[in-house]
Amino acid sequence: MDLTHMMFADDLLLFARGDSDSVTFIFSAFSKLSAASGLQAYLHKSEVYIAGVPTDVVDQIVESLGIIKGSFPVKYLGVPLTTRKLSYTECKPLIEKTVARIKSWSARLLSYAGRLQLIKSVLFGIQLYWCQTFVLQKKVMKEVHRICRSFLWTGSEVGSRKGPVSWEQWCLPKSNGRWNLKDLTIWNKAAVMKHCWALSMKQDRLWNRLATKDRLISWNLPIQRSCGLCQVHDETLCHLFFECSYANEIWTAVLQELGIVRGCLSWQEELRWVAKKSRSTRLSNIKCSVAFIETVYAV
Ligand SMILES: [Zn+2]
Repeated sequence: MDLTHMMFADDLLLFARGDSDSVTFIFSAFSKLSAASGLQAYLHKSEVYIAGVPTDVVDQIVESLGIIKGSFPVKYLGVPLTTRKLSYTECKPLIEKTVARIKSWSARLLSYAGRLQLIKSVLFGIQLYWCQTFVLQKKVMKEVHRICRSFLWTGSEVGSRKGPVSWEQWCLPKSNGRWNLKDLTIWNKAAVMKHCWALSMKQDRLWNRLATKDRLISWNLPIQRSCGLCQVHDETLCHLFFECSYANEIWTAVLQELGIVRGCLSWQEELRWVAKKSRSTRLSNIKCSVAFIETVYAV
């Protein structure tokens, strides 16, 4: 993946190879940009994260940058950046932030209409950001709904008095005589799907589709169709993974090494298999995911 940097609002993530030269080079480019644009980074608020590198190199990099070394998992706005769905505890900062806003408002004196407006503009402002970025647990969204509902009816974040109108009703459009509040569960699903779509379809998407020979030929490039590994069949995605005798032998051997006795499946079936493994935190399943990614990369 040719990913060098990511930006969100005024935050910047830079990626480099884990050696001193690469890091120095990218940092000097960044410093030049900073000098030219006048945009200054808060280095004392920045952190450097390093993985899979010997300790002496880590020390060298940290010393040359003069930036604090952070520890994994990387936390962004108090939330760990992981590939897994966030647990309830990990989402706690969201709930705490929501409650803190309500507590800090001199809003206890607000009228009902004022509270409704505050819920719409401030509380949902926080959640729209969270919902766009993470797949949240239903329990978390229920808790946020409960806090909003309680604040709306009582002016406080605690309280279990049932409102005369259900939250679902409030989420209905104004044309139905309701307030068009966002239903977080639906919103979260839609926002995350929007991200998935952008990642895979937009021009600056993060990954490029594998340029197999059948694809290159469809772009009218004058090349041979035959697979570079077995030289027998046409090179297509399904052929490479793992109909091809060469690739098939590699994946079967890797599976055997993992203690899994089965032949190669079709690409779609293998994807389903590895997707299931990747959802687990068991070491043996993690090994399977890593082995699959490495094999596909190597082939
Ligand atoms: Zn082949």
